[in-house]
Formats: sequence, structure tokens, C-alpha cells
Amino acid sequence: MITKEQLKRCKHPRGQIIFYLTAIPIILSIVIFLGWWAISPSSLKNIVSTQVITQDAIVDLVSDDDGGEQLQKDVDMELVDVLRNDILVPLVASPITPILIMILFILLIVAIVGKTYGDSLGNGVKLSKKQFPAVYEMFDEMAKEINLSKTPDIILMNGNGTLNAFACTIPMVRDAVVIYSDIFERCLATGDMQTLKFILGHELGHIKFKHTKWWYRFLTMPMDLIPGVNYIFARALSRANEYSCDKLGAKFSGDTSGKSLLILSAGKHNYQDIDLEEYMQLHDKKSIWVTISNFFMDHPINSWRIIAIAKGHHGGLWFRKK
Ligand SMILES: [Zn+2]
Repeated sequence: MITKEQLKRCKHPRGQIIFYLTAIPIILSIVIFLGWWAISPSSLKNIVSTQVITQDAIVDLVSDDDGGEQLQKDVDMELVDVLRNDILVPLVASPITPILIMILFILLIVAIVGKTYGDSLGNGVKLSKKQFPAVYEMFDEMAKEINLSKTPDIILMNGNGTLNAFACTIPMVRDAVVIYSDIFERCLATGDMQTLKFILGHELGHIKFKHTKWWYRFLTMPMDLIPGVNYIFARALSRANEYSCDKLGAKFSGDTSGKSLLILSAGKHNYQDIDLEEYMQLHDKKSIWVTISNFFMDHPINSWRIIAIAKGHHGGLWFRKK
């Protein structure tokens, strides 16, 4: 059993604070905006009717490009008045409308995260006690070790050469870990259960640390959609999460060198032939270009991830950690 204290130590120390820096402005913006909308519908109504839903804007919306005849224009203006004054302005100014918009937005997030699960389940192969039983039982055991209330689904998917795995969820129903076939078949063929365990452990980390929850996505996604700001907060948060899950993967697998991650750098046929000592000497160096590359990525530079495990520290989010 992996204790709560051990799980806590896996978490990147900067992760929590960046999460708050990402989520709190979103929560505050929503609360202030909804509050203003709810308690001051008349001022909003005024702004909406004079600056947003103007008569010209509605005319542009409903009329033909070429303008049309005078008669057509009269009919259009009647329609414009009804649309504007009787439907759009009261609707936008209603205190219920922002709540409906929020509900729709949450449902959209739920649909997006649920769709990823649906895609994987529909196109992949679900492991079970009869389908790759050894891996399933190992995974089931791992889920129990971190005290997950329900063992997530484990789904094997054709990666078409891509080496990847990820965690996803159906909100409030179940979680899943998806592993691509190239990693899976190579680990089984060579009996490299340590790498397989590391990868599955890393993905279970995303579930355990709640990175796949709909509310987590809801609170962090907006910052990721703002160009420029996304590199400051959302990408750094994502990198912190990756380091946290690497720690759990290492804990599960007993890999203290980070060599399991070499499969992502050297490929499935070469990763076991890499001289780790030489790799560390060549890669554990300062490089401004690597730092720049890392800044734009949602996963840390792979060598930084490997070195973080080998040195037993939490990797640098923006700069290489010695
Ligand atoms: Zn990850």
C-alpha cells in the first residue's frame, strides 16, 4: 500500500500553487461576472442594447448582403425590432441566462472529457481477467495500492507507431487508462514489466491526483486558451503534473534511474540499449535551447524527467534543475 504521505511526496511542490494561480482568477471572474449579471440586469441591458445588440448588428445578421428592396427592408426592420427588443435584449439581461450558460459550458466540458473515454473504449480493447490477465491483475493491484475506490478500466489501443498512454474519465462514472499498442506489445515481448508498470503507474497518478476530473479541466482550461498566458500558467501546471505522476510511476515500478522514460526518447527497439551513465553525462547540462523548448511544452523535456527521477528531485518547471 502506498501511504498518503508517500503520495503527497510524489506531488510537485509547485503544482498546488500554480493550480491555485490558474483556478482562482477563473473562479473570481465567474463569480464577479455572474454576480454583476444577476444583480444589475438593467445596466447590462443598457450595454447590451446600445453597444452589443445594436439595430445595425441585427440588420447585418438578418438581411441579405445586397440590401434588397424598400419593402423588404421594412419587413426586415419589423423583424429586427421584434428580435432585438422582445427576444435578445431581455434574454441577455435575464439573471437566469448566465446560469444557463454556465450549465451549458459545464456540460460541454463533461462531453469533451467523456468523448475521449468513448473514443478509446469504442476503438480499443478493454483488458480484463480473461483479456491479458497478467497485466490486468497487475493494474488492479496497483489501483488498490493507491486506494482508488474503483479500479479504472484499462484499454489497449492501436497506436500506429505512436508511443503514448493517457488517463481519461466519464465524469462521476468511471476512469480509464489507455495504453498504446507499441509500448504495450514491446514491454510484453521483452518482459519489461518495470517500464509497463512505470507507465501505468504514471497514468494512475493522473487519476489519483484528480487531473482528469471535469472540474479540474473546467478550472484550468480557460487559462490554457489564452494565448501567451497559457505558457505562463497552464503549461507549467501541466509539466508539474507530469513530474508528480512520474514520481508515482517510479514508486510503483521501483525504477530509480528514470530509464523507463527512455522509450519515449530512443524508441521501443532501442531504449534498452542506451547507456544510462553516458546519457546522464551528455544530457545533464545547461542548454538555453532546451530551456526554450521546455517553456512551450505541456510535458517537461524528457531528459529533465529522467534526470528528476535519477536524482530524486522534482524537476524544474521553467529551468533545468541541477
Ligand atoms: Zn502524464
